Amino acid sequence: MTHSGDRDQGIGIRKAAWWKLLCILFLFISGCAAQKVAITFDDLPLNGDLPPGVTRVQIARDTIAVLEKAHMPPAYGFINAKKLEGNADAAEALKVWAAAEPFGTHTYSHLDLNQNPAEAFDREVDENEPALELLAKPGQEWHWLRYPFLREGDTVEKRRAVRSYLQGHHYRIAQVTLDWEDYLWNSAYARCEAKQDEKSIAWLRSSYLNIASSYLDLGRNMAKLVYGHDINHVLLLHLGAFSSTILPDVFELMKQKGFEPVTLEEAQSDAAYEGDPDAGSQYGGTLLEQWMDARKIKYPPVMAKPYKEIKEICQ
Ligand SMILES: [Zn+2]
Repeated sequence: MTHSGDRDQGIGIRKAAWWKLLCILFLFISGCAAQKVAITFDDLPLNGDLPPGVTRVQIARDTIAVLEKAHMPPAYGFINAKKLEGNADAAEALKVWAAAEPFGTHTYSHLDLNQNPAEAFDREVDENEPALELLAKPGQEWHWLRYPFLREGDTVEKRRAVRSYLQGHHYRIAQVTLDWEDYLWNSAYARCEAKQDEKSIAWLRSSYLNIASSYLDLGRNMAKLVYGHDINHVLLLHLGAFSSTILPDVFELMKQKGFEPVTLEEAQSDAAYEGDPDAGSQYGGTLLEQWMDARKIKYPPVMAKPYKEIKEICQ
């Protein structure tokens, strides 16, 4: 009886162990299904035009409130300090951002590396530093660079020269794997707000979300083509007039598609970020696009962006 009880207990323990293992496997599999993504913002303190009566401070505050309400992890904002000169609203907007969210550099004046020599780019990284130092809390890390226009150099020599400068100055490159040119909608929204054109604003929302959905799928497809599996992603957004109004829907869309928001540091801890396509590019682009181009991989289909309609709406 005792022996039988021991045996039953033994079987029970084994069953429990198996169940635990199955649970771990299930968690592992479901954990893999949720794709990690870091949310980042470029062109701080502002991208695009302002709607009438709206300040840069208001846009920064509203966007931070949306991030907080959605319980988003810290989201990096990449700063061009030249935009602060003689603009108290811009300076205050950056203080508001820096008090709530981390930040890095986007060069002093949003310099295009493909149109300028490597030394000019290095100078611009340097020139942006005093503003970042002033904004930083004691011990805060801000040595992250987001390349303006996602251009890392039209020649491989230029690319290597800047990368070597960045490494020497302890910068990490804030990569991008997801980008749908969200900035296109910022100034269009400011115009439609000025006209209080609700019908056009509704179209801006639906066109934005359709494109976002298609490009989220594209990023995952490209990761599989480049790496053979999906990776942690980094999403590029721009801080502008449309941000706080569209972001709750964007976050919901990403949740539905199984994306899990994480910090930039966590996203880029993925081994996918260790490699370097190491090739000059006339066009630049996301890390995935650079790999696709360097390896001459055929792009999967994606929805066409409504460039013409966005340009013409509410004019
Ligand atoms: Zn930019």
